[in-house]
Amino acid sequence: MMSTTDRPTPATPGLLVVISGPSGVGKTTIVRAVKDRLGGMFSVSATTRPRTEMERHGVDYYFLSEEEFVGMLERGELLEHAEVFGRHWYGTPRRPVVEALAAGRLVILEIDVQGALQVKQGAPDAFMVFIEPPDEETLLARLRARGRDDEDAIARRFAEARSEIALARESGRYDVFIVNDDLERAQRDTCARIAERRGEVASVTGS
Ligand code: 5GP
Repeated sequence: MMSTTDRPTPATPGLLVVISGPSGVGKTTIVRAVKDRLGGMFSVSATTRPRTEMERHGVDYYFLSEEEFVGMLERGELLEHAEVFGRHWYGTPRRPVVEALAAGRLVILEIDVQGALQVKQGAPDAFMVFIEPPDEETLLARLRARGRDDEDAIARRFAEARSEIALARESGRYDVFIVNDDLERAQRDTCARIAERRGEVASVTGS
């Protein structure tokens, strides 16, 4: 007999999707499309970096002090964490991800390669997507067009982008590389690959 603490088995199994890619590659827009078109849940990360004017606490990130971040880390509340660009800490709160997966949802993590590799280690079924710029000139032009950074910061982000792309390729842990030369096509391809994988997972488990 089912006890009151038993959860109903979801109709479709959850799927954890990890999306990485360098700054300025259109990652956030693609993630939004996946969320809207496939009904995914976006995991809101914790970070110690300052909030920009456009961002909202609890929506874009949980903006925490170093002490608060370390507290979460020490209590085992983060699924993964990384110091991105050697400046600020970023991490994925564990509980919302675990609960959404148990409820059969598609969960999207938009995180850097270091964090993504930690997730893949602990969750080998995670579907790993890397968004790439068409070429280095385009990446540089996009970083400049964002108007968010000065030339020094742009040069740094450009160098970081190159090493992140190299690390993603060398790791052999990414399932797909999507080139964002045309945003609509990149969004369509990303959604199609995730939907395909979700179908596979559902058929393997017989749901
Ligand atoms: P930004 O500060 O521009 O919002 O993000 C900088 C980088 O941090 C991006 O590459 C983004 O994917 C990554 N990032 C955001 N949240 C997380 C997280 O929870 N964990 C990890 N490892 N990286 C994250």
